[in-house]
Amino acid sequence: MPKVVASPASIDAAKAAFEEIEGEFPSKRDLYLKQILPEAYAVVKNAARRMCGRSIPLGGSEIKWNMVHFDVQLVGGIALHNGMIAEMQTGEGKTLVGTLPVFLNALTGLGVHVVTVNDYLAQRDSEWMGALYSYLGLSVGCIQNQQPPQLRAAQYQCDITYGTNSEFGFDYLRDNGMSSSKEEQVQNGHYFAIIDEVDSILIDEARTPLIISGPSTVSNTEQYGLYKGNIQSLVKQQNALCNELAEEVKKALAEGDEDAAGRALFKIKLGQPRSKQLARYMQDPDARRLIEKTELAMYQDAQKKDLYAVKEELYYTIDEKGHDADLMDKGRSFLDPNDSDSFVLPDLAEAYADIDANSELSVEQKAEEKEALQTRLDSQGQKMHSISQLLKAYCIYEKDVEYVIEENKVCIVDEQTGRKMAGRRWSDGLHQAIEAKEGVTVERETQTYATITIQNYFRLYEKLAGMTGTAETEAAEFHDIYRLDVLPIPTNRPNTRIDDNDQVFKTRREKYNAVVKRIAEAQERGQPVLVGTASVDASETLSRLLQRAKIQHKVLNAKFHEQEADIIANAGQKGAVTVSTNMAGRGTDIKLADGVEELGGLFVIGCERYPSRRVDRQLRGRCARQGDSGLSQFYISFEDDLMRNFAAADRMTTMMERFGMEEGEALEHKWLNRSIETAQKRVEQRDYQWRKRVLDFDDVMNMQREVVYGYRNEVLSSEDPRELLNEVIEDMVPATVHEYMDQRDAGAPDYAELLGWINTTFPLALSMEESGIQDRSADDNAAWLIDEIKKAYELRVTDQPAEYLDHLERQIILTAIDRLWQEHLYNMDALREGVHLRAQGQKDPLVEYKNEAYALFETLMDSIKGDALSNLFRSTTSLDQFEQLLQSMPQDLDGPEQAQVSNANMAQVITSQDVALKPVKSSKPVKIEFPKRKPIQIKSTKKSTK
Ligand code: ADP
Ligand code: MG
Repeated sequence: MPKVVASPASIDAAKAAFEEIEGEFPSKRDLYLKQILPEAYAVVKNAARRMCGRSIPLGGSEIKWNMVHFDVQLVGGIALHNGMIAEMQTGEGKTLVGTLPVFLNALTGLGVHVVTVNDYLAQRDSEWMGALYSYLGLSVGCIQNQQPPQLRAAQYQCDITYGTNSEFGFDYLRDNGMSSSKEEQVQNGHYFAIIDEVDSILIDEARTPLIISGPSTVSNTEQYGLYKGNIQSLVKQQNALCNELAEEVKKALAEGDEDAAGRALFKIKLGQPRSKQLARYMQDPDARRLIEKTELAMYQDAQKKDLYAVKEELYYTIDEKGHDADLMDKGRSFLDPNDSDSFVLPDLAEAYADIDANSELSVEQKAEEKEALQTRLDSQGQKMHSISQLLKAYCIYEKDVEYVIEENKVCIVDEQTGRKMAGRRWSDGLHQAIEAKEGVTVERETQTYATITIQNYFRLYEKLAGMTGTAETEAAEFHDIYRLDVLPIPTNRPNTRIDDNDQVFKTRREKYNAVVKRIAEAQERGQPVLVGTASVDASETLSRLLQRAKIQHKVLNAKFHEQEADIIANAGQKGAVTVSTNMAGRGTDIKLADGVEELGGLFVIGCERYPSRRVDRQLRGRCARQGDSGLSQFYISFEDDLMRNFAAADRMTTMMERFGMEEGEALEHKWLNRSIETAQKRVEQRDYQWRKRVLDFDDVMNMQREVVYGYRNEVLSSEDPRELLNEVIEDMVPATVHEYMDQRDAGAPDYAELLGWINTTFPLALSMEESGIQDRSADDNAAWLIDEIKKAYELRVTDQPAEYLDHLERQIILTAIDRLWQEHLYNMDALREGVHLRAQGQKDPLVEYKNEAYALFETLMDSIKGDALSNLFRSTTSLDQFEQLLQSMPQDLDGPEQAQVSNANMAQVITSQDVALKPVKSSKPVKIEFPKRKPIQIKSTKKSTK
């Protein structure tokens, strides 16, 4: 094998060598790559050195190239080539690190994908690093949102392609799930993906699957409007109840009846966790202790009788952490005083058995009864579902926290990043429920055309690697899900950042006041401050306070990546104050202005600990890059969500009690930091379980998707689609013939029905005598029929324009696959919902889901072939012929249901190309039980406040 040196001829020779051994990929390839890695990396570094001082275009202006790889960057590059996550701090130059493995692996000609968190960074990096790649003779492409297909395909043809995870994912879905010819497919395989800010993509983004959807054919949006009023009164009722309970608490406390007070408080916590009264009591250590005591007693009791009893006194209970609300009996009777049973789904299997056991019913009557039962259950299930979603919408999802209203639409706000996620919708009707609650237009439910999780998309790659400043805390997940190991790489220069202890306040108000004061002091000195907030809402609150204090500042909330990159780049100027949600400006470097170093560098203030340590580390990492000085500190309060829901409540109570905090006073101790981190770990674990659960469910789909997409691609790429049609015929005809002849009711062949099927499916128009089916065995009949069908088909296609024939034949199968697959996705959605509704019955929903999904899938594969078979003689190539065909169709096809299906089928033939398909990302809240929290143990320490 040739060596690689820094000359165009040598690089060309290496590329040629890979072409030669292509037959022996991947084993020889990997060996060769390993062998040339040192030289190849040297080539890249050498090229970088030679480029120094050159002007290169970047974002419309010119910059001078000034980077030569540091040694630690080479180490990072080696980790990436070996399929690891290189953990390198912010400002260590990860963009440049990527060039090493990208160059090496691009030599194979298999295409390397570099994945970024947003379009702006894809564009920036492809241009910036592109200068180096073109110097080395490699081509670079960049995928952007809204790029037309031809342009996209050209980007994928390049040696290296930059783009965001969702663009890559959606391209995959369009290629495999929707394209109607091979030429429409744009991607070039999945060899190697290097993911920048890998935690953001593989962990944060992984919570929401990619979904391409269109308007649904079935819709029950009116349900939400219908039940909205009921839910409003229900909520009012519960609030009144909680007010009464608050009175009870007051009275019981006055009488010294602690048990009664604790019980009432606990009830409020279950029924109205965000109530103001409760918040007030939570500030009082005695009251806190009472609730904790009651709670502990209730949960410790193995039978939980007491707990259930307490719950039953409420209309519904709320699980704030789990984002769930449960309707109680009392609530059910309130909603439907005459029939609270209409909220309980009976066991279908049992009900069926009852019908079967009824000897007074004929076979037909039994079937009718079952169908009627099924219909009733469906509508009942839908009603229950709408109501439970409405309840969540009213009790858990708060305006300006979980979502905002913009232009009369409900727009989701990402809880981790505070970003508004335009275009994303909550699924399962939750979004519609919130729309109904807010009185904006309730949009039609959508139907899924294609879907994949981020996890399963990136598992498609033969090789995967990533880089970020913060991966270590999630190392287990990276390993379990993606087989990615984390390698922390030392910094190029020693890190001199100082992380001060957290400041803990009693209330949010006191916290913000302290933050504002601290910012004012820093600005006075001229030290730049970067303030991180957990949500858009919080950043706006802080901004108002700063305005009031006449402190000049800029606010970013990760909406306008490009402008924000600009602002954040200037966050290191003297006296600059920048308020930002955590995603804002990720990937942009903050350089210190002259004289700032002497003032202590950039000061990072966190206004709240995020639910995960990783995000905190990310924020701290914004300062003290490349050996600069820098300081970071977090300000928190007992009212923060994290503290309310996850912190060791008993421990906090003790502290508040012992230190008797005064107004405006803060607690500060390294033990406190530790216990907050424990709370964060708990959230991290919960979130991991959650993502794992989503993935467990998607894995079932993933196998099915692989089979269906595999078949679909075979249809698209087959040289001879007729051959595939023949397979369908040879597969389906014997099976169907046997079905009619072998095991009909009395064990006798049902010739009339067989003939009926033959005549409606194929244009043979035979009489019983002509067919002769009564004189043949099943196998002979099948052989005879296959022959007839093929003959009839030959005849029929002779008058089809030859140039369309291939296309037509592909289309016959594709239409069947697409229609039924979409229907299948819909059924799978319903199934997933269904198994969770059933979750009460001690059964593991995942197991149920797997079993039933398997059965559904078997049916699907048969139906696809059956559908293709009946499409054989119904498809046409031109619109004219199509319309003629429609008119000649028998008007009553087996009742209304059948007709509807056939119409949809027909519509697909013409509309599949021009339906506007808008990719939508939606988060799918999956209902899960989390392991109960364990109390944390911290040794008590001495007070240290200021
Ligand atoms: P990261 O992604 O790790 O946060 P970036 O790739 O954005 O870091 O780079 C941070 C800054 O460091 C950029 O301004 C870049 O020009 C500079 N840089 C990176 N590597 C080098 C190098 N080897 N020599 C000089 N400057 C470098
Ligand atoms: Mg970066």
